[in-house]
Amino acid sequence: MTAAPATADGELGAALAALADDPERRPLLVALDFDGTLAPLVDDPDDSRMLPAAADALARLARTPGVLLALVSGRSVVDLHRRAGAPVGTVLIGSHGNERGRVGTYGLERDAIRLDPDQAELLVAVGAGLTAAARGRDGVWVQHKPAAAVLHTRMAAPDVARAATAQGLALADSLGIAALHGKDVVEIAVVLASKGDALAALRTELGAAVVLYAGDDTTDEHAFATLGPTDLAVKVGPGATVARLHTADPRTFCAHLAEFARALD
Ligand SMILES: [Mg+2]
Repeated sequence: MTAAPATADGELGAALAALADDPERRPLLVALDFDGTLAPLVDDPDDSRMLPAAADALARLARTPGVLLALVSGRSVVDLHRRAGAPVGTVLIGSHGNERGRVGTYGLERDAIRLDPDQAELLVAVGAGLTAAARGRDGVWVQHKPAAAVLHTRMAAPDVARAATAQGLALADSLGIAALHGKDVVEIAVVLASKGDALAALRTELGAAVVLYAGDDTTDEHAFATLGPTDLAVKVGPGATVARLHTADPRTFCAHLAEFARALD
């Protein structure tokens, strides 16, 4: 990985304009992370709101022929559906690739997750272990997902967050599972998937010739890593990345995305 350049918005704008202008580069799969990419990061995930420019861009992209739209998030599919209000036809990949759904005319069409007995038992152990890591620690809480549990530390004091995180990572170690350690979260999943696996599978299924993927977190690096030289990988915000393109924050990214969607529309 290399450190992302401080300002690369000109390069991003040019790459998006070239993609919009080239009808040969279709079908185009536009796959976007949600928190920190389409919505500014907030302390409480329940307060997260998509930026108006993003909502406008998604609506335009959804009605553009040759463009396929997907949101790819660590959130559960149900949460992502409610939170994002994405247009009909949008594919929703949730829980870092462990869940899949689609926005239908009458609501969420959700693919089932099936846990085998070992995975179900492991999920109980993960939930209990992370709950123990949160107990007595102010600002630390546990979210239970269909195939994972997540320790959230964003609202905790730094030393409290560090201790809880260490306990969460030790739990994953003791259970022999690789934890996803993202921004202020430790997620332990009992079904192994990544945003990269899910993106690669979706791309094949849809027969996409080109993929535009944007994300802000370490978990998005798995998705960036699946992209080829003619795809567009966009890192949103600071941090080391394998993505070729970069922009400062969700606001600058969504402004680019809105312009791109208008150029296509
Ligand atoms: Mg994110």
